Amino acid sequence: MKQSNSELQQRAEQLRRQLQEASHAYYVLDHPIMEDAVYDRLYRELEQLETEHPELISPDSPTQRVGEKPADRFQSVQHNIPLYSLENAFDTRELEAWDARWRRHLGEEPENLAYICELKIDGSAIALTYENGVLVRGATRGDGVTGEEITQNVKTIRSIPLKLKLDDPPPVVEVRGEAFLSLDVFENINRERQEAENPPFANPRNAAAGTLRQLDSRIVADRQLDFFAYTLHLDSAELTSQWDCLERLREMGFKVNPNRKCCQSLQEVEDYFDDWETRRRDLPYMTDGVVVKLNSLELHERLGFTQKAPRWAIALKYPAEEVPTRIVSVTVQVGRTGALTPVAELEPVQLAGTTVKRATLHNKDRITELDLHIGDTAIVRKAGEIIPEVVQILPDLRPPDAEPFQMPTHCPACGETVAQPPGEAVTRCINSSCPAILRGSLEHWCDRKALDIDGVGEKLVGQLVERELVRSVADLYELSVEELVKLERMGEKSARNIVDAIASSKKQPWHRVLYGLGIRHVGSVNAELLAETFPSCDRLAAADPDAIESVSGIGPEIAASVFGWFRRDANIKLCDRLKDAGLQLSGVPQKSKPSESQNRPLAGQTFVITGSLPNLKRDEAKAKIQNAGGKVTGSVSSKTNYLVVGDDPGSKLDKAEKLGIPTLSEAELLEMIGG
Ligand code: NAD
Repeated sequence: MKQSNSELQQRAEQLRRQLQEASHAYYVLDHPIMEDAVYDRLYRELEQLETEHPELISPDSPTQRVGEKPADRFQSVQHNIPLYSLENAFDTRELEAWDARWRRHLGEEPENLAYICELKIDGSAIALTYENGVLVRGATRGDGVTGEEITQNVKTIRSIPLKLKLDDPPPVVEVRGEAFLSLDVFENINRERQEAENPPFANPRNAAAGTLRQLDSRIVADRQLDFFAYTLHLDSAELTSQWDCLERLREMGFKVNPNRKCCQSLQEVEDYFDDWETRRRDLPYMTDGVVVKLNSLELHERLGFTQKAPRWAIALKYPAEEVPTRIVSVTVQVGRTGALTPVAELEPVQLAGTTVKRATLHNKDRITELDLHIGDTAIVRKAGEIIPEVVQILPDLRPPDAEPFQMPTHCPACGETVAQPPGEAVTRCINSSCPAILRGSLEHWCDRKALDIDGVGEKLVGQLVERELVRSVADLYELSVEELVKLERMGEKSARNIVDAIASSKKQPWHRVLYGLGIRHVGSVNAELLAETFPSCDRLAAADPDAIESVSGIGPEIAASVFGWFRRDANIKLCDRLKDAGLQLSGVPQKSKPSESQNRPLAGQTFVITGSLPNLKRDEAKAKIQNAGGKVTGSVSSKTNYLVVGDDPGSKLDKAEKLGIPTLSEAELLEMIGG
């Protein structure tokens, strides 16, 4: 999107206002209004705008200073040596760019180059002054030049020595580091806050900052802050490297994070970063990246600082799960159930390691709630395996001429009026011959987990529907080679393969046919459960909702949906046609009658899986459980024996905890199966 100068000026002003507001909420109120990653991206956008158009820089721009002016609750202190921030890199490409930048600045190849990697602890930076070995002052960073005097509070932190372990202490020593809260303590504080009906802290960093600035130091003492030292300002010829400083800090009585590493190459730095991306989850405190510093203090001296940050260090941050980006347009997709899903088309953005161009907006109500306008800056989230979604709009960044987005009143695929059934958030096309619904049903039918028909993908389905060769899934079984060869880019051989693939899908068992029918709420697990109790289409069609609901793992919503589906004539006719075409509309799922000789350590046990497992895909875990004689259901009930829990578990975990159902990790599950 090419923008005019006045638009750029306006964007810069909007960004400055938004960032100032966020910064105040973050540093002064200790209650952020956005995720750090969102702040970082907006900050980066402003920085880029200002680099490309230096005339847009204003002295009050957040890019021109570190932090926020300190609150006036404490006495101000001037830092003799300013406390700088750190430049950020969001991926290894930016790390490499930093490496090239400082080398260019230095103008020569340094000798004995080494990088020190330290974990970036998510806490609050503080500066400690020791005179003749005794702690005389503790201060917050504030805006980097002026901080707040918090000596009383700092003295409550047990890991900060009040007296240095030095035989002959120099007149002044400055130590800097991170005051932080362990995750346990953080959670306790938030629990107490919620009980007292105070808003919880958004993250351990804000909780640490808020704690340090408590007026009553007894409360501070109670909160068990901790401290890792990482910077030492001491006039000593013996100290020549950051590594030496860290060692000396430890000898002087400070806690220094043990997970530091001296790396000889950028590749080693990247390996350290990758390694800690997973290991950090086992740490009792929060980290949000890795700080990379050149080891040589002489290089620090020669490279110096930019306005805000040292040139000889950078913070490499872990991929964010939330970022801001702009909504270019909104398209509306029609799924196989007729549901209209609005999708935001985005300016491409890096999110959790992938490029995201589209994000779901869910439904009409969500759009109203967001008050979405085309051109808005939106916050997009991707957590675990979930598809990216728009979670928030930043109205302060809205271009003045932006138009609100309205959900269409007619189906974008067939033009028929759409409906929003009472009590549902979803807008639906109810035209049973809507080509989009038909396309979706056909794709679902051919899916790997349904009839698994090779060669019939999105493109072919599109042509079959457009040329009206197929009006229902049953028509697939009447397609001839002669009809198919007339399609674009279709040779006789491919046409024959497709006809054969369709014909061999007739051997697929009943539970796959049932899944393929695409009845709402009937996923592949539920289809198998239903087929076990109702081993034929006729028996399922004749069952009342109570009988359907009596199947373990099937709830009332699913039962009502299945019952309703078989009450429609068109559906019964479809089943008859499929039976006539030779499809399997009866039979017990194979896995429920394994041979006696099989080893079945999980026989009679019911499992539910939630979250993403470290090694096995869902399907694989399910197959392993079933092969060992166990049953896998889709939802937790009192009949569930175990819940297998992976990363980012859903509400199933809460339910299991409520019902007292034991949980298993992937490793524990494999152990039960015996490998
Ligand atoms: P920063 O957090 O990106 O990096 C500098 C800080 O890292 C230091 O001040 C120190 O506290 C910390 N640190 C941890 N371990 C360290 C180590 N081993 N060595 C050196 N430093 C270490 O930058 P910042 O200037 O403290 O704060 C800016 C950040 O604050 C932004 O990146 C943003 O994420 C956040 N912020 C968020 C909002 C919001 O609204 N969410 C608003 C303002 C700022």
